[in-house]
Amino acid sequence: MGYFREVFPKLLCYPLAYRGLVPPGMPINLTFSVTNLCQSKCKTCSIWRLYREHPDKLKAELSLDEIERIFMTMGHIYVFNISGGEPFLRNDIAEIIALACKYLTPGIVHIPTNAISPRLVLKRIRPILKILKTKYPHVRLTIKPSLDHIGDSHDKIRGVKGNFEKVIGLFNRLKAYKADYPNLHVELGTVISRWNITEIAEISEFAIDLSADSYRNEIAEHRSEMFNMDDSITPNPAEYRQAVEFFVARIKRDMKERVLFERITHAFRLIYYQLAIRIMEERRQIIPCYAGISNAHMTPYGDIWACCTLGYEKSMGNLRDFGYDFKRLWAGAEAQEIRDFISGGNCFCPLANQAYSNILLHPPSLACVVKEIVKARDK
Ligand code: SF4
Repeated sequence: MGYFREVFPKLLCYPLAYRGLVPPGMPINLTFSVTNLCQSKCKTCSIWRLYREHPDKLKAELSLDEIERIFMTMGHIYVFNISGGEPFLRNDIAEIIALACKYLTPGIVHIPTNAISPRLVLKRIRPILKILKTKYPHVRLTIKPSLDHIGDSHDKIRGVKGNFEKVIGLFNRLKAYKADYPNLHVELGTVISRWNITEIAEISEFAIDLSADSYRNEIAEHRSEMFNMDDSITPNPAEYRQAVEFFVARIKRDMKERVLFERITHAFRLIYYQLAIRIMEERRQIIPCYAGISNAHMTPYGDIWACCTLGYEKSMGNLRDFGYDFKRLWAGAEAQEIRDFISGGNCFCPLANQAYSNILLHPPSLACVVKEIVKARDK
């Protein structure tokens, strides 16, 4: 109920802010790339090259003290997404999450991992679980090891031999923690790229058979954040449509057995797939994008972006230049310029995290979500 009271008024204001009728309120979804350090050598992302080529840049990442100053100015966030690089390479990851829970009071904290250093992940996850259990038991923590293929094929996409075995090992260890931490959700996630699109049904079945709490996938796309703008990584729309048809059939088959919360997330996913395929085929924003209003992205250096796709190309500013005051940056002219660019339909992409907010804020799409939930109940 507390979350509803916090989130609902914001949802009512966002469409007005989108039209420039009221100032933008604070976002409900923050993605924080805590570090750009990464041990992977993925074919779909070149973040891992950054500190090899520019080792000095690592020192420019935000300190814990700076992060606290920023969080103090942000207010309530419902979804706190951690991103990277490999988030568990930050030795203060537990402290960052504790600060987020203290100041941003999220309902959901989400962390992906490449699972290349499973012992390190387990060492750093334990204090996080302890903090959440003792101080913030209502917070749902989701951890998502990345699984892009099966066996050696996964290792080839990720560029690290032995990674597949580690993903499976870490996934099983994390699942064993669930007995003590009921609010821990262990997921698996696949980036759909031209290196796995033709086997995506097999990969998905494999992941689903491992009984993850959730299996997510997202299409590999060009993102300024990933330094992959010139790389050929995205499957063509016809291939993606085929993959989507498989996911849709699978979700519909599963939905009835799911509890209400999962049915809701599955219904959102069904509508997301329809939207994503249209965005790819028609190459335009199909419904209004609320990036820079409902969602914000913070880089390891304190830049604020509307989304990671626009990223470095369209930064709203750096918090170090705004005295670490998020509200001031968010209300500034640079930030508004980016919002005008987005609402002018000058960009498009199927970024899942953003698309879910967009669906929530688009009444016809939301009505389709509700219809899917009702349909599943009546089957
Ligand atoms: S449409 Fe995509 S690129 Fe454009 S602002 Fe939204 S999330 Fe970013």
